[in-house]
Amino acid sequence: MKIFIAGWKELSLVDVLENVSFTLWLPFCNFRCPWCNNSSIARGKEKKLVEIDEIFEAVKRAAPFIDYFHVTGGEPTLQARALKYLFKKVKNELGLPASMDTNASVPEMLEELINLIDHVAIDVKAPLNNSKLYSKVTGLDPLTGALMLNKVRKGLEIASRAKFLELRTTMVPGFIEVKEIEQVARTIKKYLQGNGRRVYVVQQFIPYETISDTELRNRSRTPPELVKTAARKAYEILETETYYRTLEDGTVKVMPEQKFKQPSV
Ligand code: SF4
Repeated sequence: MKIFIAGWKELSLVDVLENVSFTLWLPFCNFRCPWCNNSSIARGKEKKLVEIDEIFEAVKRAAPFIDYFHVTGGEPTLQARALKYLFKKVKNELGLPASMDTNASVPEMLEELINLIDHVAIDVKAPLNNSKLYSKVTGLDPLTGALMLNKVRKGLEIASRAKFLELRTTMVPGFIEVKEIEQVARTIKKYLQGNGRRVYVVQQFIPYETISDTELRNRSRTPPELVKTAARKAYEILETETYYRTLEDGTVKVMPEQKFKQPSV
């Protein structure tokens, strides 16, 4: 069986929180996020058709050094049949935990894959109760954006069965500020209450050269203090493991604020 891929990296330290992964990028995406830093992969400009066995052999070589076999994109669920075969093979023959990064907008395919995946990472692009903003952040027309948002809610419901669920939001300038992060937190809270490890990560916007939208490419990165403030607010709402991720500080866990007692005199 064959699958379209954009590339892979044998050892990655940044794709699965606190773990080492073999990361595979799959091309194509059904969203058009103007801030996407993988836009050429998402648009299928970087792709080649390879035998799944070729990928499997590379994962097998990396297996002693990795914690997860991680698949990202683009949107991996757009090639769910081939991906299911690959996940099964890696799990059954190498016993490796599997991980997938998805936008959650193809719930029927996520349902097909969920029992094979140990860690699911979902980029929650905007508050789930604001389809206008969700459409803008994902570069979709309002009608398609609203339809997609419905699917994303179903996708999140399915993903909430994963052992390790990691939801993330990027603070895209002009779209997602501290107030929007608070709204995202309120609308995702129910998906982060199941059993297993439940994590939320607030990410800094970084104007990578690979971003296709010129205006966004010329913006500054989100000030780290703002990312930190947003993550703290989210933590207070979610009461679950929360992190902020910036170029300056790396990935940092938000800790409960210490309340100091006034010394008695
Ligand atoms: S969903 Fe992800 S891969 Fe697809 S366009 Fe948006 S940021 Fe890029």
